[in-house]
Amino acid sequence: MVRLFLLLTLLFPMSVDAARLRKHTSLKQVPKIVPSRAKIVIDAGHGGDDFGTKVGQTIEKVINLKTAEYVAALLRKGGYEVLMTRKKDVFISLADRVDFANRSKASLMVSIHFNAAQSKEAEGLEIFYFKDPIQERKNHSKNLADHVMRFLVSITKAKSRGVKTGNFCVIRDTQIPSILVEGGFLTNERELEKIRQDQYLKSLAQGIFDGIEAYLGPKNS
Ligand SMILES: [Zn+2]
Repeated sequence: MVRLFLLLTLLFPMSVDAARLRKHTSLKQVPKIVPSRAKIVIDAGHGGDDFGTKVGQTIEKVINLKTAEYVAALLRKGGYEVLMTRKKDVFISLADRVDFANRSKASLMVSIHFNAAQSKEAEGLEIFYFKDPIQERKNHSKNLADHVMRFLVSITKAKSRGVKTGNFCVIRDTQIPSILVEGGFLTNERELEKIRQDQYLKSLAQGIFDGIEAYLGPKNS
C-alpha cells in the first residue's frame, strides 16, 4: 500500500494549489464559520428534576421551554430547521446539550434562561457569550449577542444589563457561535409580573428571532 502510494505520488505529483491547501488546512484546525440559514439550535435551560429558579408558581424550566418553543415557531415560519435540545420537561445534562450542538452542524445556538438574584431590585436582560481563544467564534458569538440584545430591548423595553462574557458550559464547550439569554429576573416583582404573561414571552421570542436574523444578514446570502 505504501509502495503504491509512493508510486502514485511520483506519477502524479501534487499540484502547487493542492499543496498550499493542505498546508493551510493543517495550520488552521478550526473550520471557518460561515453563517447559513439552514439550522439553528435552541436550548431551553434546565428541565426534569432540575427546576432552575422557582418563585411562587413560576418555574424557570417551564418558561424557558415556553419561550424556546415561541422562538422555534418563529424560526420554522422563517424557513429555518430548528433543533431543540429538549422539547418536553426532561433532564438533559449540560454535556449532552453541548454534544447535541456540536454534532448538529447548525449555524448557532441560543440557550434560554431566566434569572434570579439576592436583591429584589435586580432586573433586566443579560446575554452571555464565551471569550473563546478562537477569535472567530468569539467574534461571531458576541456579534450575535449584540444583535439579539438590541432587538430584545427595543421590543420589550426591558432594561439591558449588557452583553457579557460568561463561562457557562453551553456557551464555552460548543464549537458554533453560542449565546445564553437571561430573559429577566423572577426575583423582581415587576419583572415577574411581565414574565408571567405569555405575550411577554412571545415578545422576548420575537426579539431573539429578529436578533438571529440580523446576525445572519440578508436572506439570500
Ligand atoms: Zn437557568
